[in-house]
Amino acid sequence: MTDGYISAKSTLPGSPPDNSRLPIDFGFTNSGNPNMKIIKTLLLGAILSAATLTQAAEKKHVTGYTDTPLLPDGKWRVHDDNRPRPKVVTSGATFSHGAPAPSDAVVLFDGTDLSKFKNQKAGKPVGWKVENGYMEVAPKSGTIQTKDEFGDFQLHLEFATPGKAISNSQGRGNSGVIIYGKYEVQVLDSFQNKSYADGQVGAMYGQFPPLRNAAKAPGVWQSYDIIFESARWDGSKLTKKANVTVIHNGVLLHHRKEFIGTVKHKRIADYKSPHPPKGPIVLQDHGNPMRFRNIWIRHIGDYDEG
Ligand code: MG
Repeated sequence: MTDGYISAKSTLPGSPPDNSRLPIDFGFTNSGNPNMKIIKTLLLGAILSAATLTQAAEKKHVTGYTDTPLLPDGKWRVHDDNRPRPKVVTSGATFSHGAPAPSDAVVLFDGTDLSKFKNQKAGKPVGWKVENGYMEVAPKSGTIQTKDEFGDFQLHLEFATPGKAISNSQGRGNSGVIIYGKYEVQVLDSFQNKSYADGQVGAMYGQFPPLRNAAKAPGVWQSYDIIFESARWDGSKLTKKANVTVIHNGVLLHHRKEFIGTVKHKRIADYKSPHPPKGPIVLQDHGNPMRFRNIWIRHIGDYDEG
């Protein structure tokens, strides 16, 4: 496909070819053309500029930090560059890809329109585009969230990172499923892309790395099945921490794992601000043209509910 995205039915490709060491051949011969020297100089300048930009991006998107606060376990820092990266698992070609919504699910996106979503910023329109059965982040148009709010839930969604792996670490294929706008299950292109463990795909952002790295290659559709139980307070006293179960491409990343608190960048999460046991599902615009499709959500319910 010309846009670099790959069908979910495609088999998982191996490592993308590394063209970085290919000799550069512009196809020029010494024609004696006096303009050739100028053209070559310009081309060389362009290449050097590109290299500088790449270096700048790598500097901007560091792979982790060594000066952030220690997490409550006292072992690792927030976004710790030294924290072990999870083992890589090659997931099956598909898992819950294309899973039809059960009858009691609320379909948030069926591939046709964004009517169930609004811009996170009040009064701003949703800028993401819809085509070919998916929605795509229009970078800088803004994070979106569901108009409705949901209590403890089971959520299914599928995503694809851009087919061309541009930039590195947190700069590559970044988005997020930010539950209630407060608890982020990270979305990132973590296929052969080193970043801090608690920030890679499937991480409980800034808190816990996923148990495994089940990332598929850039452009390949991936599935998330997320079960979330909200935090509870009695007045200002926390009585239950939020927890999450995440299955990524059929691989368990978290099993009823409790959040340390609501999401923070480079700081320790906490539960200082009580919130209702329900909220919107937020999809992050982090400046990358990420794609999402087939999104539905179910209320968990109780035993003997009738
Ligand atoms: Mg993110």
